[in-house]
Amino acid sequence: MHTFSYHDTHLYCESTSLAKLAEDVGTPCYVYSEDTIRRNFQQLTEALSGLDHRICYAMKANSNLAILRLMHNLGGAFDLVSGGEIERVLAAGGSIEKSVFAGVGKTDSEISLALEHGIYSFHVESEPELERINRIAGERGVKAPVALRINPDVDAQTHAKITTGKSDNKFGIPYDHALDAYAYARDLPNLKIIGVQMHIGSQITKIDPFVAAVKRMRPMVQKLKEKHALEYFSIGGGIGIIYDPALESGAASWWEDEGADLLTPRRYGEALVPLLKDLGLAIFIEPGRFMTGNAGALLTRVEYVKTGKAKKFVIVDAAMNDLARPSMYDAYHQIVPVENTPEEDNGPSSITADGVGPVCESGDCFAKAREMKPVKEGDLLAILSAGAYGFVMAGRYNTRALPAEVLVSGKNFSVINNRETFAQIIANENIPEYLRSS
Ligand SMILES: *Cc1c(COP(=O)(O)O)cnc(C)c1O
Repeated sequence: MHTFSYHDTHLYCESTSLAKLAEDVGTPCYVYSEDTIRRNFQQLTEALSGLDHRICYAMKANSNLAILRLMHNLGGAFDLVSGGEIERVLAAGGSIEKSVFAGVGKTDSEISLALEHGIYSFHVESEPELERINRIAGERGVKAPVALRINPDVDAQTHAKITTGKSDNKFGIPYDHALDAYAYARDLPNLKIIGVQMHIGSQITKIDPFVAAVKRMRPMVQKLKEKHALEYFSIGGGIGIIYDPALESGAASWWEDEGADLLTPRRYGEALVPLLKDLGLAIFIEPGRFMTGNAGALLTRVEYVKTGKAKKFVIVDAAMNDLARPSMYDAYHQIVPVENTPEEDNGPSSITADGVGPVCESGDCFAKAREMKPVKEGDLLAILSAGAYGFVMAGRYNTRALPAEVLVSGKNFSVINNRETFAQIIANENIPEYLRSS
């Protein structure tokens, strides 16, 4: 669900004209709909209303301070994965005391920082990590709250780079080893076991993998609850979103056998609440993409339309450094014109072209052989569903500034991240004296 729609022939985000916004802020720029994020949060809250639950927004999906503050205002806590993300939650005024710290490679200083700010729980991925947290907690004279991430070994049926719940990837503690790992943790004097965690992958678009994973974990959780003073079971994130509108209309592709059976918050709740209700634990979820993905678009302007020997290229001012998903995961993003002007009488009604950026890499491509309305130099395009794993993965390759970010609320918008300046790009670079003088 999103609120990017045409009013007449003009594309709006909520009640804000994107043409006007682009004129003010420039392109490329990310635009987020506050209303969409609110509704996503509320829908999930409603779907889980039968449970004592906590939403820990997986902030790696979009960690702009304004987005974090919005999540905090809605009642959310955070699933964070680095010391930098701890600092972000603090800077945004969020609650570390309600948040959880995930990730396979937590450093000494990150663990210290989390303890200093009273992290609610560490989601621990290995025995050596248990030992390290135990040591650092001891040095600080505190007990560290922990939950172990157990790998349920189910197939999330998603892209290989974002599946995490199979036994052959780096995440979590193997299911068969879970009881031993918990016993080991209990014997470490500076740890306090308070939970169990799982997370099977990202962009999961069917309910079955979630159901399979929760069913597999249930007996384990019950066993662990008998032995340890558990407070919660975190079932992770991973709820997928619709990138391709062909799916929404029930047509096409990898989804086919499911028909219109899209994974909605309601279906998620209906399937999982009954499996979780009687555990007698608080249930945490860690949605990232679901919260912000469809709430965002990347606005970009057409620089050139180039007719190659065999193909047409629409060259835009956004690139793989701004939005990495297409080049990194072959991800599909819908691309729509900001001015949807009626076709000219004698012109073609559509063209087939590659939508590419200016970066010197063949992989700098947003869409291959895509059928689209004819476009010309200066036209604005919106790359949809770019609100998650978009700006957060942006870089400066080709000395391109990080793009601006804008939050829309009704007919108002706020720049929540200024476009980077050249001075900021080079602020930390130095030419050593010996090179200067030769
Ligand atoms: C990335 C991640 C999430 C969020 O995944 P989404 O697919 O964005 O919902 C949740 N929990 C953990 C442990 C993660 O690594």
